[in-house]
Amino acid sequence: MSSDIDQQLDFDRTHLWHPYTSTTKPLPVYPVASAAGVRLRLMDGQELIDGMSSWWCAIHGYSHPVLVRALAEQAGRMAHVMFGGLTHEPAVALSRLLVELTPAPLDKVFLCDSGSVSVEVALKMALQYQQAVGCPEKHRLVTVRGGYHGDTFHAMSVCDPITGMHTLFERSLPRQLFAPRPECRFDADWDGNDLAAMARLLADHHHEVAAVIIEPIVQGAGGMWFYHPEYLRGLRRLCDQYRVLLIFDEIATGFGRTGKLFAADHAEVAPDIICLGKAITGGTMTLAATMATTAVATAISEAEPGVFMHGPTFMGNPLACAVAYASTRLLLDSPWQEWVAAIGNQLRAELEPARSLDTVADVRVLGAIGVIETRRPVNMAVLQKFFVEQGVWIRPFGRLIYLMPPYIIRPEELSRLTDAAVRAAAMVT
Ligand SMILES: *Cc1c(COP(=O)(O)O)cnc(C)c1O
Repeated sequence: MSSDIDQQLDFDRTHLWHPYTSTTKPLPVYPVASAAGVRLRLMDGQELIDGMSSWWCAIHGYSHPVLVRALAEQAGRMAHVMFGGLTHEPAVALSRLLVELTPAPLDKVFLCDSGSVSVEVALKMALQYQQAVGCPEKHRLVTVRGGYHGDTFHAMSVCDPITGMHTLFERSLPRQLFAPRPECRFDADWDGNDLAAMARLLADHHHEVAAVIIEPIVQGAGGMWFYHPEYLRGLRRLCDQYRVLLIFDEIATGFGRTGKLFAADHAEVAPDIICLGKAITGGTMTLAATMATTAVATAISEAEPGVFMHGPTFMGNPLACAVAYASTRLLLDSPWQEWVAAIGNQLRAELEPARSLDTVADVRVLGAIGVIETRRPVNMAVLQKFFVEQGVWIRPFGRLIYLMPPYIIRPEELSRLTDAAVRAAAMVT
């Protein structure tokens, strides 16, 4: 068995790319054999308590019987058919649910394969819309610093220009317009000045701006930052004033993670276009959705060329739609608000001791997301090894050690995560 593992690791090291890695200086990876509930079982038999939900996705934990059954049943009927000229119950049932759950005016659904693609689709919708309504000069995008919207080209162009990949791809990326990161914290008193730079940017450039794209309330991979809902209300007013579309990227925040079903619900603001992904299938399949208002969809459809110009091969994949429907129903039928609130309270209490460490700059919690921001960047390989030794799966990056466990985690399991996170924060020198 152990030579099996060694052979696999050896092949992996020689041939496989992992996210953001080098083939000549690969970082260690841990072979995982199976996963159930909040536990990942490594091939050597060790079990790790999962603090990451596999990057926001596995909100119900792993191998949930309801999701496994939904997948198996759908696989027995039909794993995939093309969506051009055909439709099926999984896509219709899922979309009906999404139309019901998302803010009211969003009622046209475009199903696609991954988060980055759903961002590309949203941006294409915005550009096609502005051409359709006779404003082709409105072709640029506005966003804020510290954002993350995916790794494909137009998505990259609206990621943070410093921590994103702008320098590397400078010659190929469209140049977008950036306002500062919203600074007013989620739970602070609202500071009206926070919106001033965005207001100026739009006042100066609205004639060339198609849309503003932003992660509502929580900036995820760009810094795990939580900002004030009033920012979004003001932004909605500015977008209306200047006839600029507002796109919410809820790929990370959707499906309850922030304590509301969608982060937009904190502000009670509806965007013109929304991007959903990650937790949409409960972490079982890749799937995303871009939803638009009837106004946006109608404008696109009534102008040349009379259609929205996008159509992925695996659009509306029945397996992914069936499991997304099952996952979303499972969420709605659970007391998820209580679970997320309880996780938040425990994170607040148990991460708080980290605040007094010299190595720590900030501790913040929103919904089922807990963040320790360190003063210096973490050594990922060292901390990763430490966490595995502690029997937990936590993957820090930059100056962030963060937890976003499956909603089903039990208090004693969550304490294992917070204990390891606080001790790791003390090690960052
Ligand atoms: C993860 C993420 C994306 C990209 O999704 P992929 O499925 O990785 O392509 C886009 N926007 C946000 C906010 C994300 O968190």
